[in-house]
Amino acid sequence: MIGLIAATSAGRSAAAELAEALGDCTLYQERTVAASIARAWAECEQLVCFLATGATVRLIAPLLADKHSDPGVVCVDEARRFAVSLVGGHDGGANRLAARVAEALDAQPVLTTATDATGLPGLDTLGWHTEGELAAVSRALLDGAPVRLRADAVHPLPALPPNLTADAPSDAPTVVISDRMPQLPTAESGPQPPATSEVRGGSGGRSPEDRSISDRIEASRLTTVTLRPRTLVVGVGASRGAPAEEVLGLVEAALADAGLSRHSVSHLATVDAKADEPALLAAAAALGVELVTHPAEALAAVAVPNPSPAPQAAVGTPSVAEAAALLGGGELLVPKRKSAPEGRAAMATVAVVRRAPRGRLALVGLGPGARDLLTPRAREELRRASVVVGLDQYVDQIRDLLRPGTRIEATGLGAEEERARSAVRLAEQGHAVALIGSGDAGVYAMASPALAEAGPDIDVVGVPGVTAALAASSLLGAPLGHDHVSISLSDLHTPWEVIERRVRAAAEADLVVTFYNPRSRGRDWQLPKALSLLAEHRTPDTPVGVAHAISRADEWHTVTTLAELDVTTVDMTTVVVVGNTASRTVAGRMVTPRGYRWQS
Ligand code: SAH
Repeated sequence: MIGLIAATSAGRSAAAELAEALGDCTLYQERTVAASIARAWAECEQLVCFLATGATVRLIAPLLADKHSDPGVVCVDEARRFAVSLVGGHDGGANRLAARVAEALDAQPVLTTATDATGLPGLDTLGWHTEGELAAVSRALLDGAPVRLRADAVHPLPALPPNLTADAPSDAPTVVISDRMPQLPTAESGPQPPATSEVRGGSGGRSPEDRSISDRIEASRLTTVTLRPRTLVVGVGASRGAPAEEVLGLVEAALADAGLSRHSVSHLATVDAKADEPALLAAAAALGVELVTHPAEALAAVAVPNPSPAPQAAVGTPSVAEAAALLGGGELLVPKRKSAPEGRAAMATVAVVRRAPRGRLALVGLGPGARDLLTPRAREELRRASVVVGLDQYVDQIRDLLRPGTRIEATGLGAEEERARSAVRLAEQGHAVALIGSGDAGVYAMASPALAEAGPDIDVVGVPGVTAALAASSLLGAPLGHDHVSISLSDLHTPWEVIERRVRAAAEADLVVTFYNPRSRGRDWQLPKALSLLAEHRTPDTPVGVAHAISRADEWHTVTTLAELDVTTVDMTTVVVVGNTASRTVAGRMVTPRGYRWQS
């Protein structure tokens, strides 16, 4: 919940407006402003104070405890020009809240945390546990000093600052991304110590690329921050009534003996029948993760190295720990291991699997061109990506929004399939990829070829965009007020017979039609032909809207009729909207009634 604090009538009306826009807000009106803040502080995740920053600082000073748990606080000035992220910019979400408040109140967000100010993702904003000298390494990053990156794997992170590289000098401040614990430095550990392989459970070699990342962290010499990606799945089994310490002790011992960090555990996994087993729930809670359960049949179908008859009899699968850990794939780092209580039989089993990071493919529609028709979500996804793939003209459209260090794969027209394939490949390698297109990425665009290629091993995020048809509609009036269809007149990939059949059907069904890709230098007869097919079912005075280069510098639009349309004005950056038999031109605007009768 967001707590709102206001002391003046202007503040209260801004607060009401904000509550309306954001939802989940409460205005605190205790006897004093100090009492309101104190109560909101205790009850809310975030606060918006319609107060001067000075007043707010004095009021919250006695309440401040810890940046990881304090609410994020945003201040809005009396004239509501600014939404200032005051404290809790990252962990408290105040930076993000300031952006939302600014948008709702048409104010300017003011962020002062250094990483955001310079467009770098804060190392502590990735949602991973951090260990070591976060502040010192962050400072080096911000100062532009060379910082060394040592990562076990490619993770779908946002673009990292250009000065954070794998080949920075070995004595540079270092960011380690690893689920493995540092090993004690040994006599022979030089700047590029050989990787140890025991912790891999003997399961195959590592690629040369992996080898640049050492298990050993020379923490004594280097300024190092270690990030713990959530790569480990811990499968657990427990007999009914197993002591909580036995399960937790076993999990911790298994991780420690394999040199793995408990902070890299993503979740505990077991069989459905054990969903309520107190020891498992307690172990999950102690590790700060969830207990995820799977049906026995699903576990029984997983091939495991150490099946056994006991769980088969008890819960219907020959393996719980190994199967639950391996379900969904990955590398078995710790095969089944039993607890070893003194003087009685073991009541717990554990197995640990490392999952390869899942890459992320965002399909981002940029809208028709203008910056204010790019959705905030699209903008966020562009900044979430480390690689942007798209047609060069679209990349140019959003280049300034990308984080410094974003890799750009721009290609020319005609390379659609290749572009889609390369975006999917990059996501498969673990990167966070944004594949961009104009309008909506799923409408005559890149989403289909990309998803035709993409397997279940990557995450796909779609971001809807404002299509050319919708943008045209709002320019022309209300042409899409009743049933409508879009038809592309490009016969490069679709035989003309198919296009013609669809145009005839639309004509007969009296659908409003938006023509995409209507006419180019080499394709000039298709549009007149399509219009003549529509004219068989519509009168010559049927309204036709033409919208060119919508929301761009050379935008123009006109409303004319089937009889009067001059097709030579139409080109490939145009859409043509033909009304149905009920569409009319009213005061120069194209209107299709919602029903078939015009209201009197
Ligand atoms: N994905 C896009 C469509 C891409 S197909 C969308 O959702 O809108 C390319 C065609 O879209 C162009 O030939 C043209 O007909 C239309 N188009 C795209 N942007 C346009 C704009 N700004 N103004 C007019 N038409 C546009």
